[in-house]
Amino acid sequence: MIAIAIDGPAGAGKSTMARAAAAALGFIYVDTGALYRAVGLHMLEKGIVPRDADAVKQELGNVQVSLEFQQGEQHVFLCGKDVSQEIRTPEVSMAASAVSAIPEVRAFLFDLQKNMAKTHSVIMDGRDIGTVVLPQAQVKIFLTASDEERANRRYRELLEKGKAPSYEEVLSDLRKRDYDDSHRAAAPLKPAEDAVLVDTTGMSLEESIEKILAVIRQKLSDKTKEIN
Ligand code: C5P
Repeated sequence: MIAIAIDGPAGAGKSTMARAAAAALGFIYVDTGALYRAVGLHMLEKGIVPRDADAVKQELGNVQVSLEFQQGEQHVFLCGKDVSQEIRTPEVSMAASAVSAIPEVRAFLFDLQKNMAKTHSVIMDGRDIGTVVLPQAQVKIFLTASDEERANRRYRELLEKGKAPSYEEVLSDLRKRDYDDSHRAAAPLKPAEDAVLVDTTGMSLEESIEKILAVIRQKLSDKTKEIN
């Protein structure tokens, strides 16, 4: 099995890049943020404050999260219900970030992520894939872009979905989430020591995908040479 880890801050284009690269390579694309989002959504639905670690831990026993792949697309299920669309709101983004700082939540989702890579060749994106979940991944990429460019991409995505928060709101949410994700004690967002840093500021989508694919192909060919 081959594992490719793509980590980076919110809105860096991880999911778009990972999805395109997975299609090109015939791998499964696993979006781990969706798992934290599902847990965050559950807490919001139950009226639990996502930052209230004790309440979240207590409720965790009632949470069931699973993944299914339909025509290559990941669907996330929360207690048997497909919530793949519902989890894509700014409220759920912030709730996901809050619950993800709780070590018990991370432990709860760990096996699910790990097992996917045991049974399939995967491209997995998240915050701690190269550092914690798949430290043995053959390729690790840390994807970034400037705050403004990431906020702008996220803003346009939300507008397309008919939601219209202000650009300033999107930028400040994104900065807060990045700060919290990088400064938490449990599995903080940071590049693995052996990650390749890719900054896509100013690059078009096509250029970014080309760049990621070039890094992956180079790394996989280096590994093959090492083995032979
Ligand atoms: O990637 P996405 O924006 O969907 O992730 C939502 C939140 O889930 C992130 O802000 C982060 O706090 C958390 N997360 C994480 N570890 C991962 C993936 C996501 O902590 N591997």
